[in-house]
Amino acid sequence: MKNVPEMFGSMVFNDRKMQERLPRTTYKALKKTIKNGEPLDISVANAVANAMKDWAVEMGCTHYTHWFQPMTGITAEKHDSFLYPTGDGEVIMEFSGKELIKGEPDASSFPSGGIRATFEARGYTTWDPTSPAFIRDKTLYIPTAFCSYTGEVLDKKTPLLRSMEKLSAVAVKVLQLLGNTEVTRVTTTVGPEQEYFLIDKKMYDARPDLIYTGRTLFGAPAPKGQELEDHYFGSIKTRVSAYMNDLDEELWKLGIPAKTKHNEVAPSQHELAPIFETSNIATDHNELTMEVMKKTAEKHGLVCLLHEKPFAGVNGSGKHNNWSISTNTGENLLDPGKNPEDNLQFQLFLAAVVKAVHEYQDLLRLTVASAGNDHRLGANEAPPAIISMYLGDDLEALVNAIVEGKEYKSNGKADMLTGVDVLPDFKKDTSDRNRTSPFAFTGNKFEFRALGSSLNIACPNYMLNTMVAEELSQFYEELKKADDLNSALKALIKKTLTEHKNIIFNGDNYSEDWVKEAEKRGLCNYRSLPEAMAHYVDKKNVDLFVKNGIVTEAEIHARYDIELDHYAKQIKIEALTMLDMAEKNITPSVIAFVKELTDTALAKKALSSSLSVYAESSLAEELSEKLELFVKKTDELKKAVAGAADYQNDNLARAKYYRETVFALMGELRELGDAMESRTSAKYWCYPSYGEILFGV
Ligand code: ADP
Ligand code: MG
Repeated sequence: MKNVPEMFGSMVFNDRKMQERLPRTTYKALKKTIKNGEPLDISVANAVANAMKDWAVEMGCTHYTHWFQPMTGITAEKHDSFLYPTGDGEVIMEFSGKELIKGEPDASSFPSGGIRATFEARGYTTWDPTSPAFIRDKTLYIPTAFCSYTGEVLDKKTPLLRSMEKLSAVAVKVLQLLGNTEVTRVTTTVGPEQEYFLIDKKMYDARPDLIYTGRTLFGAPAPKGQELEDHYFGSIKTRVSAYMNDLDEELWKLGIPAKTKHNEVAPSQHELAPIFETSNIATDHNELTMEVMKKTAEKHGLVCLLHEKPFAGVNGSGKHNNWSISTNTGENLLDPGKNPEDNLQFQLFLAAVVKAVHEYQDLLRLTVASAGNDHRLGANEAPPAIISMYLGDDLEALVNAIVEGKEYKSNGKADMLTGVDVLPDFKKDTSDRNRTSPFAFTGNKFEFRALGSSLNIACPNYMLNTMVAEELSQFYEELKKADDLNSALKALIKKTLTEHKNIIFNGDNYSEDWVKEAEKRGLCNYRSLPEAMAHYVDKKNVDLFVKNGIVTEAEIHARYDIELDHYAKQIKIEALTMLDMAEKNITPSVIAFVKELTDTALAKKALSSSLSVYAESSLAEELSEKLELFVKKTDELKKAVAGAADYQNDNLARAKYYRETVFALMGELRELGDAMESRTSAKYWCYPSYGEILFGV
């Protein structure tokens, strides 16, 4: 049994190590920066860099890297050694404050959405002291933000940090106004639950679709899927358990508080949940978790799939973004407390979230849009593409009472009587869960459940923070003018909830009735990325980001272009992979099998005309007919991909074309391919089957 408290954070330059290794004044100055967001002095940076380097070298490191999150959707790193020549043919290990603070990767090959031309290559990474440095593979990793020479934001971390600052500043003003004067800083917290698939590496290596696109593009269903509901929370297989234990240890060493693990609904699907941290650290840690998940799988002869929909017919993978706001005095602002009916502070923050989600439902929708997540949202396995909020019976009753001006009486926590003497009775939660809601209140936090499993959580979180900050600013402006704060507060809460309660829906989000009802309520229902993303650049949304100083109008347009371009490229890669599989393997496999059938029939007939060739000829006929359609469809798809050239200069039109034309044809081609797979000898079929992949670990 390993000593977990000792192991936890052993690869992190954490608070304890800083305290041990930094001069007292340096440590204090650094803490001020981390806690209060105060700017950092170069002399402090020099001392920190030196202490970091000494620790890293003691731990066997030779290199450091500025680790950042460009718009590619994955993290980036460029490694430099600590080597410093002393002029006499010798070297020492050096690391200066300047090197800690500023890095200079070439920015020209990262997506910039047209902000940067290739010749304008300079980009900078800047140390983020609020997220601790750590060691991986003998390299010191320094979390950084990334911008261009001219200052444009080229990453996901910068807007997140800005949104956290913004929300803190306005929330503090509001709290001060309400008489909560000890609060000087407010932080958003996030606990991201992460779903993933784990499959055997041998199966993965035999599937070009998994290798190139992360999902299967062909694959007839296995005889068994998830219908018996025997995988969810089921006993964990030895091989998976060994992986999970190893993963936990790797994450703990990196200071990532992995807490919960279990099997998920689909065969081969699992989940990991950490304990929540600040949004910024939770984002870095989630990116790191996904990387460590993949690396650890390799050691076990496994592959970890983070795609949102690796397999048709069984559930895909998502990520639940548990989000709350708390103060530096230790108060969770979304905790209703014992008497929410008297807790005006809670009601005001609740009203801010309700108004934000209602007014910016389109942003929340588009921030979770991706080619992968398009397979899930609205497919009755994940929340629908319609954004609504679930508050639970108690809070909904409170909201209704406020809106109707009636008295509210809480039911309180009821006793749960187990009815068995040896089982202890306990207090029930005040409301049940709603697994179908995209944005559900869960006691003292909101759970945004529509995220795809591979998404960088920075984007949904900076949008969420920014929209709530905006609503709080509006509240502040209104409240600060009030003569009688208490009645102004009550009136504001009532007015806000009345105007925005249309976003609240406690029922079954999967039902057809809800789609109709949502339409009546005027809620948006954007079924795919191109539909959703089109609204990124709506004036209301641009105004939100610009007014709150999160990103500029040019940067929003850049992000919009990057997302649409990325989407089109992903679908294109999928289509090309399908064509490759169809032409190089599937068609030849079926031809070879049909040849065996017809050869056999001929041989039988030659032997004796009375031998029945029914099996061979009927199967050969059926497969030949399907193959003809399949080959024609392959050609159609090829032409459709070429047709995208007509939309080269319009990212939105190109993305729509890929969705409506190319993606639609891919579905038709797959259907024919899967039908042939079901009828073709396993000896001839060129790829591992769904059964082998999903039940192969
Ligand atoms: P579930 O039953 O959905 O797994 P849990 O209560 O276990 O719910 O919490 C799920 C996630 O929510 C965990 O990552 C947990 O750390 C996180 N969480 C709990 N409280 C907060 C909070 N105040 N802010 C953000 N995340 C939180
Ligand atoms: Mg959950």
